Amino acid sequence: MEILRFAPSPNGWLHLGHAYSALFTSEMAKRLGGRFLLRIEDIDVGRCRPEYEQAIYEDLHWLGLIWEEPVRRQSEHFSEYERHLKRLREMGLVYPCFATRKEIQDAIAASGIPPRNWPADPDGAPLYPGIYKDIPRERLNRLMWEGRTYAWRLDMEKAKAEAERINGGPITFTEEGESARGDTGTLPIEPELFGDVVIARKDVPTSYHLSVTVDDSLQGVTLVTRGQDLFPATYIHRILQVLLGFPEPRYHHHGLIRDAAGRRLSKSAKDMGLRELRAAGETPAGIRRMVGL
Ligand code: GLU
Repeated sequence: MEILRFAPSPNGWLHLGHAYSALFTSEMAKRLGGRFLLRIEDIDVGRCRPEYEQAIYEDLHWLGLIWEEPVRRQSEHFSEYERHLKRLREMGLVYPCFATRKEIQDAIAASGIPPRNWPADPDGAPLYPGIYKDIPRERLNRLMWEGRTYAWRLDMEKAKAEAERINGGPITFTEEGESARGDTGTLPIEPELFGDVVIARKDVPTSYHLSVTVDDSLQGVTLVTRGQDLFPATYIHRILQVLLGFPEPRYHHHGLIRDAAGRRLSKSAKDMGLRELRAAGETPAGIRRMVGL
């Protein structure tokens, strides 16, 4: 049986883009005769708020969506993510990185490469310059003793090599929608575009990438539907799936809803907020028409 999910983060109000993604997923599940799950991705305890979570349930009910209960809330499962992080540590594929944003900027400035020419990852963040990679054990211990805060980074080169060894060849994924470039079918991954990504933090033993792969596997998700903005993240998710022995879901990245000026909607795009549209008299049928469903 096909299992699909809509996985919003309660760190803002839902907008038309979320409505499209939720409706797209629920309709696809119906078409496939499958199950539709809602998952609350609330690991960022600093930015997620209970009123945003309540609004998600309310707005989605208003849209006419029906999902299975109980809803999985990621903040209730930190110890599970931590267990998988531990496995990656035991495999020697993650390392603690104590770099502050300022240290990263300074290292880039000291490289002699103009900052604007420094490579950025697909999310626009500068690639990590590796300043705390392979530091001597003694220095590492001292930093730990000092109680310095750190993030766990995935050693992408090592992780990719190990994943390919386990897989017995290059890692691919199946795209049933398409990327912004129009790619579809069996596609290669390019995780090196992200460099050594942060996979967990000292105080939060997970990250979006880790918890999304753990949960998709645990919940038996067979088809991941989400916006094209998350297409490149799939490169990281496939690596983690292979390393952690998870099954491989298929992917369908859908187009993004844009505002009148062609900009991607953000959580601050008030005019496209579902609450505002509803207050202005819009109906669920009207919302469907607006997103072309
Ligand atoms: N929680 C993510 C977001 O709101 C989406 C996760 C996913 O669909 O993979 O952007």
